[in-house]
Amino acid sequence: MPGLSISKTEAKKFFGRFLAFTIIGASIIATTILVAEFGPPDRVYGDDAFDDFPSNYVPPEFNASRHNVLLDQHSHTIWSDGVLTPEQNIIWHIKHGFNAAVITDHNNIQGAQEAQRIAREKYNSVFKVIIGEEWTTSRIHMNFLGVSSVILPGITVSDTDIQAAINAAHEQGALVTVNHIPWSLRQGMDHPSRSALVSWGIDFIEMVNENEYDNESEPFLLDPPGAITGTDMHSPTTVHGWTALWVPEFTEEAIMAQLAIRNTTIIHNTTGSRDYTKPPTDNPAYLALKPVIMFGELFEDIATDSTLTLVLGLLYLYGAFFVAEALRIVKRRYWEAINARPAEKSRKNAKKAA
Ligand SMILES: [Zn+2]
Ligand SMILES: [Zn+2]
Repeated sequence: MPGLSISKTEAKKFFGRFLAFTIIGASIIATTILVAEFGPPDRVYGDDAFDDFPSNYVPPEFNASRHNVLLDQHSHTIWSDGVLTPEQNIIWHIKHGFNAAVITDHNNIQGAQEAQRIAREKYNSVFKVIIGEEWTTSRIHMNFLGVSSVILPGITVSDTDIQAAINAAHEQGALVTVNHIPWSLRQGMDHPSRSALVSWGIDFIEMVNENEYDNESEPFLLDPPGAITGTDMHSPTTVHGWTALWVPEFTEEAIMAQLAIRNTTIIHNTTGSRDYTKPPTDNPAYLALKPVIMFGELFEDIATDSTLTLVLGLLYLYGAFFVAEALRIVKRRYWEAINARPAEKSRKNAKKAA
């Protein structure tokens, strides 16, 4: 059929459009996913969120004659998937009896740096912030306590990569905690064994994460690794774990020095503190971006659900492209057909001339 033959220029133009469709489509999809992942949270806490606390909660197990620091080694801010600002994170900790926290966003330290600056300026006599990072991978989550620059994981994570990250943290003078091992195992992660981790030189095992105590890790507490607790706070909630320390002077350095010799006493209170935080309200920034975020979540679901869903999603997408191309051909053939009818053309022209 001569009517279906495609010239070289036509083919070139077609591949140009195909490429443009792919690039533009991919950037639109990537943008919506990034906005869904890192965009504003749906609800926000006001600056008066903690005003209703009757007093700062102190766990009954705390012995003030033996310890003078209550530390949390693990929490998040809006700089990763947490909902509190760095300053709200500080206030929340103070209300729950803490006077020190390592702030540990996923694979970044901006929130922790901001919190440390605010703590030094406004809360210096009552609260210390140590900069941390939760090295978050598909195989293991580790906290680096006292990092000065972020250590980013690669896309794939081998045993060697994990050991290299532990060594990189140590080179910065940071300490390494392996977080929530029971949770990671429940996720089906290909998690390194506890004995391997001990041999790789970890400093702490997170023995209490939220309200979960890690019984299985008890035999591996060999100093190192020592025991430590993490609230893993993403949004305000009841606290069940505190790490008690004694420091000769109330400074970040003194806290790090006690952590370095693992001089920690962990408190696990299954009942937990009371949380009087006022509930959050709708976030106008989220509402404005809601359609973009919803598309992003949809694309994310399609990409991560199963290989079949991903292939079908791509088929739909390129199906739309080929339907548009088919319509373009039909349209061109239609005009070619019309232009090929000289009689009608001249009649029209005659009409115009008249
Ligand atoms: Zn984690
Ligand atoms: Zn976490």
